[in-house]
Amino acid sequence: MYYNENTTIFLNGQFVKVKDAPVSIYNQTMHYGNGVFEGIRAYDTPDGVRIFKAKEHYERLHYSAKVMHINLKYTEKELEQITYKLLELNDLKDAYVRPLVYLGENMSLTPTDEVHVAIMAWEWGKYLGDSLLRLMLSSFQRPNPKSCFVEAKVVGHYTNSILATTEAKANGYDEALLTDMNGYIAEGPGANFFLEKNGKLVTAPLGNILAGITRQTVLEIGKELGYEIEEKFFTPEEVFTADSAFFCGTAAEVIGIQSVNDYKFPLDWEDSIGSVIQKKYKRRVAHNEYQNVYL
Ligand code: PMP
Repeated sequence: MYYNENTTIFLNGQFVKVKDAPVSIYNQTMHYGNGVFEGIRAYDTPDGVRIFKAKEHYERLHYSAKVMHINLKYTEKELEQITYKLLELNDLKDAYVRPLVYLGENMSLTPTDEVHVAIMAWEWGKYLGDSLLRLMLSSFQRPNPKSCFVEAKVVGHYTNSILATTEAKANGYDEALLTDMNGYIAEGPGANFFLEKNGKLVTAPLGNILAGITRQTVLEIGKELGYEIEEKFFTPEEVFTADSAFFCGTAAEVIGIQSVNDYKFPLDWEDSIGSVIQKKYKRRVAHNEYQNVYL
């Protein structure tokens, strides 16, 4: 699904076939989760293939590497140029791009100078599908920001996401919704969360969540369209009295939520602010309305 024998990836300065990408079984990322990554999308726009907010994604990769003491030798601009080349080599137009910075052989709990940079790309439809989601309020909480850098995309953080999604699916739901360490609504396992109440949008403030690039785009679109959006801490009880809700993320894009636990949102998705933003988001990414490329 992600690759075949012809797939080319970028690895440490070269474009190689997947089978020519050796990974040591002693690599620190695999043992202790110390590695950082990104999730980016490229779209086939009328102006050609465009990576949406490449700069922001590669800035976040740099931030993630920095806080984890990983020396990332490529600049944001280089990484963007490499990604365009990679898409071209694989003849990909609408694609998901996965940069992964992983470490070399090191079984101690200190960083290492052996830093590997891989970038992969593949065609990936909507990560959470197209239908409205049924969420489960997770029994897991997002990691405490005092235990890690929550705004960094660190490989090891995703065990929390896997636990939450697995629990939700085991209980017959599509996906999970997690609280932060104080019990306020935080985000999904791989997407940020917005609710709508009385014509206004509400989302968690930065601090205990991943600073989603799609979340930022939603804030921008919402502002342009004149919607009131509040970034504040809110409880699960507020979700259970909301009119509508949606998730947003690079992989998920903007996707409506039907229910959380037994609570079904009363507003029809088509009548919600989320639906308006979803349409605008689609246009923005697919028609290259947003320009922030170096090339
Ligand atoms: N929260 C988490 C935990 C995520 O993994 C993601 C996906 N990167 C998001 C939110 C959404 O972030 P973005 O819009 O930057 O993809």
